[in-house]
Amino acid sequence: MYDFIEFVCLFVYYEKIHMKKEDNQLMEKIISLCKRRGFVFPGSEIYGGLANSWDYGPLGVELKNNIKQLWWKHFVHQRDDMVGIDAALIMNPKVWEASGHVATFSDPLVECKKCHERFRADQIDISKPCQTCGGKEGFTKPKQFNLMLKTFLGPTEEKANTAYFRPEIAQAMFVDFKNVLETSRKRLPFGIASEGSAFRNEITPGNFIFRRREFNLMEFEYFVKENEWEKYFDYWLGKMKQWLRDIGVHDEKLHFVEVSAQDRAHYSKRTVDIEYDYPFGQKELYGLAYRTDFDLKNHFKEAPYTDAVTGEKLYPHVIEPTFGVDRSVLAVLCDAYTEEKDRVVLKLKPSLAPFKAAVFPLLKNKPELVAKAKEVYAYLRKECNVAFDDRGNIGKRYYSQDEIGTPYRITVDFDTLENNEVTVRDRDTTKQEKVKIGDLSSFIAGHIN
Ligand SMILES: [Zn+2]
Repeated sequence: MYDFIEFVCLFVYYEKIHMKKEDNQLMEKIISLCKRRGFVFPGSEIYGGLANSWDYGPLGVELKNNIKQLWWKHFVHQRDDMVGIDAALIMNPKVWEASGHVATFSDPLVECKKCHERFRADQIDISKPCQTCGGKEGFTKPKQFNLMLKTFLGPTEEKANTAYFRPEIAQAMFVDFKNVLETSRKRLPFGIASEGSAFRNEITPGNFIFRRREFNLMEFEYFVKENEWEKYFDYWLGKMKQWLRDIGVHDEKLHFVEVSAQDRAHYSKRTVDIEYDYPFGQKELYGLAYRTDFDLKNHFKEAPYTDAVTGEKLYPHVIEPTFGVDRSVLAVLCDAYTEEKDRVVLKLKPSLAPFKAAVFPLLKNKPELVAKAKEVYAYLRKECNVAFDDRGNIGKRYYSQDEIGTPYRITVDFDTLENNEVTVRDRDTTKQEKVKIGDLSSFIAGHIN
């Protein structure tokens, strides 16, 4: 017998599932494809997993690396005003005192008095029964829970040895500011870029790779004079929009949300969240923040920059575009996933696809075709990541490559042995054309870039 409250809860739960059924199904299909084809696996799976930890598999690491490399090329290599660093994950704990993270980087935590499950107080209605056990005993008073992941350096677990895994990658770009300035000889405006892991002891992670305790960021700090911050804020917002188009995220799924003063991080005077329509709802993808001179002032007692013309010492102000790597992967996958009448196809931008092409011999039991196809494969893989497949029939191979987003399929047939021409089939249009083997690498490069 259900009591009334449980009945209401079940009803609400059923409604929630019912209303969101299509979206949930889409997310489940993407998660299942990711696992089946080696994009993303549950972490530590043979030991029963570890909640919300995920591993990138053989295809996932290619997709993720392609995004990171394209980002670096786009924002570092192709610009005169940007340099990169790769900093340590664990920094001197004084960094996190200066940055304000020790004092203020926390979420309000409440605990169910019945089942002791913990929730973020700002994410549940604490006047309602517990969503996990249905208990009506209520919740503990909210207490602030610091999100930094703690560890100990050295062989003793003492307070003096406490260190933190970095909760953001920005601080090294401030702490290293003078070293970068002196070695790179950049002048304002210029930026320092970085990419890597950050860690947050989230109370409620979830939604596949959307919110993990260990995640990847690409970010830069762009240093400007104070009176120019608005100009560069708008400039970088435009560049972020362009980048999203370049990686194939559709405009109509994006939302640019001005963050109100009370919701902004402690250091920011203006923040725009770039949100995306994931299957589980509209949530954050990227962020753009004006951090003022807050960080440089905290780390440097003396102004670290001298104007070359006026000789004035000053604290540069900072515009910070942040790009979540895992969230980029997730948005790109959600946008690319397409169901057609007789196939599932990942319509990834060719530049992001794990394999740029797949090479097939028309028939696997004709040694001369297999040998020629292997020759084409060996030649192409010097240029880009290419797959080889001689299993099953050609239809099955197409289907298999559609599902992982390979943009070009190259078939070696009996004509190839005569005239050195192969048939190239386009993933999206399924149109076929003949290309000379010698022209293949420029054909692929031309379509990818
Ligand atoms: Zn409970």
